[in-house]
Amino acid sequence: MIKEKISKLRTNIEISKEVFIITKIINIQKFSISDGSGIRTSVFFKGCGLDCKWCHNPESISFDKELLYDSEKCISCGKCVKTCPNGALELSDGKVIIDRNKCIACGDCIEYCLGDALETAGKEYSVSEIVEAIEKDNLFYEVSDGGVTLSGGESMIQDIYYLENLCKKLKRRGIHIAVDTSGYAPTEHFKRILKYVDIFLYDVKTMDDEVHKKFVGKGNKLILENLIFLNEHNASINIRIPIFEGVNATTKDMEDIIDFLKHNNIHVEQINLLPYHEIGTHKYERLNLGYSYDSFGVPSNEVMKQFQELYKKSGYNNTLIGG
Ligand code: SF4
Ligand code: SF4
Repeated sequence: MIKEKISKLRTNIEISKEVFIITKIINIQKFSISDGSGIRTSVFFKGCGLDCKWCHNPESISFDKELLYDSEKCISCGKCVKTCPNGALELSDGKVIIDRNKCIACGDCIEYCLGDALETAGKEYSVSEIVEAIEKDNLFYEVSDGGVTLSGGESMIQDIYYLENLCKKLKRRGIHIAVDTSGYAPTEHFKRILKYVDIFLYDVKTMDDEVHKKFVGKGNKLILENLIFLNEHNASINIRIPIFEGVNATTKDMEDIIDFLKHNNIHVEQINLLPYHEIGTHKYERLNLGYSYDSFGVPSNEVMKQFQELYKKSGYNNTLIGG
């Protein structure tokens, strides 16, 4: 309970201040074949400093443990409403409404849900517990040149002592570490774990700071500074560019990114162009959130191929669509 209260304080804290965060994990996904080489275990951290309008994992944004509700499974029995000691639930038109100001994600209501419609997102793991889960698949990493990918949410914005300890323990065991990051985290965090990380999978969305603020919730200054920092310290970097019609799917946007990479002599192992793909609103409904943003869309295959050619012509031969 005390831990929950401290954690709730985290959500609105400025990124520059050193804070105590209780790290939570959404999922430890085994046998993943994306987000890095070979067979991987992906660790999804809960909490992110950005607020991307297209986020496919809204449950990963908040640092707090949260109750998720699936209206498709709900049989509208109302048991959960009666069970909640905090009066956080109500049944309206056959659907459960969660008052997030009252819900402390204790999970009591889940025990009484006959429809399996409720679950919590966010679990505290010790570093040893995560290492133990990852180590079980050592053989698969060895035969496939795989390893672990720290993802989220945003792994780099978590408690740096926790993250550093995790990376150190994995490295000692010879496990390949990839960090999938938006780059929106204190530079000090990158500095602390740089020596353990084999590759950064680094998102670059747009060079236009205003567009970045509009669609991502924050400007791109810190993100670009951290990218330069990593490059100056010889980190291996894959650049990942999510592409959205209405946001950054223009030749100028791509040229601006190329100019930035060239101007700063960023050494890139690979560029991944990631076309936006639509998702249902289901995940947002599970958090009682709206997904009404319709000012961006899916780029065509033709546009994606044109962009790939542009990167290749600019010297980035290892540019892939997807990945
Ligand atoms: S998780 Fe706990 S506080 Fe939240 S609705 Fe269920 S019983 Fe109430
Ligand atoms: S207990 Fe489960 S099935 Fe019943 S109303 Fe609540 S969420 Fe729906």
